[in-house]
Amino acid sequence: MFQRSFIFSSLPSRVVFGVGSLSNLPAEFNELGVERALVVCTPEQSDLAYSVARMLGDRCRDVLPGAVMHVPIEAARRARAHALDAGADCIVAVGGGSTIGLGKAIALESSIPILAIPTTYAGSEMTPIYGLTENGAKKTGRDLRVLPRTVIYDPELTVSLPARMSATSGINAIAHCVEALYAGNASPFTSMMAEEGIRYLARGLPQVVQRPGDLDARAECLYRAWLAGSVLATTSVALHHKLCHTLGGMLNLPHAETHAVGLPHATAYNASAAPQAMDGICRALEKRDAAQGLFDVAAQLDVPLSLKALGVQFADLDRVADAALTAPYPNPRPLDRAAIRVLLENAYWGRRPGTALECVSSLSGRELPPEN
Ligand code: NAD
Repeated sequence: MFQRSFIFSSLPSRVVFGVGSLSNLPAEFNELGVERALVVCTPEQSDLAYSVARMLGDRCRDVLPGAVMHVPIEAARRARAHALDAGADCIVAVGGGSTIGLGKAIALESSIPILAIPTTYAGSEMTPIYGLTENGAKKTGRDLRVLPRTVIYDPELTVSLPARMSATSGINAIAHCVEALYAGNASPFTSMMAEEGIRYLARGLPQVVQRPGDLDARAECLYRAWLAGSVLATTSVALHHKLCHTLGGMLNLPHAETHAVGLPHATAYNASAAPQAMDGICRALEKRDAAQGLFDVAAQLDVPLSLKALGVQFADLDRVADAALTAPYPNPRPLDRAAIRVLLENAYWGRRPGTALECVSSLSGRELPPEN
């Protein structure tokens, strides 16, 4: 059914896409009208960051390999001081969501523009969303100052992303699309991008996993990751993202893997309250059940399917359920503590939706093997 009324705000960012497009960096730097870059990255990607710095020559003030998953507030403070000391007037963030997140932490206080060069499918480069972790709690917010002004998408830079990380990062992108389909502020435009994102990531990720050097498959997936980031930027996220942020901040779980485990279960939770969104997911996956279809995508990609495999302790599930209800995100199905605890237990065991527990009351507090 066509949605007859909606509001959509487009965001001001410039995208340069293409194999080899990193070579456009000096020209894009000029286009931004900036002169003194601080290049940020993770320690693991410092070689790439230094090669980016060399492309900028004396317009690069320094390289800071200080990005860490979930942007701990201490790392953010160090990076802000570093940017100030370097006299930077541009942050060049080269890497995945953690690196772009560090750039955003700097921009949030200083308004220094970000030029992002993403190397995963997480999508942060398209959003005005920032996240900071303090005392085990990850807080997110939206602020236009953190939206990268220029994004250079070069599929060649994703070739080195290991197969398993490519798969989980791609599912992270699918998760943005899934929640965009049932967002209260969805529009036909965002739903079109979201459905296309799910369809082609589900098809393209197995190719990337089988042939990580296949530039066509890499480009297809990176393009859909752009779509996924774009819908994340302009729609609200719901219970699934809240659970991932809670698990990430509280237990320091890897972000993309947490998305891969949780998405089928959060989708099952919301299925009855969001039938049109489920139809869209089923169309995209050519499956009859959205949650099962998403579980099968993850299973086919051979990624971790359970919170247990990510190192979560059964005893953590109760406090995660409690925390997920604190400052909740809008969600199509009302949040119910007992049902969320069931969701978490199903995710803990990695049960396929449909074969999963409907009610956990008989088990409360006890860890039982999956066959029970
Ligand atoms: P990541 O940035 O933490 O990267 C994971 C690891 O992979 C790092 O060691 C990194 O150096 C390495 N890596 C990245 N690209 C590589 C490549 N091409 N080749 C080899 N190694 C590579 O992982 P991520 O999943 O991209 O980002 C997760 C973070 O991003 C989380 O903190 C999450 O909350 C945040 N995020 C934010 C938004 C937003 O809109 N604000 C959106 C999505 C994710």
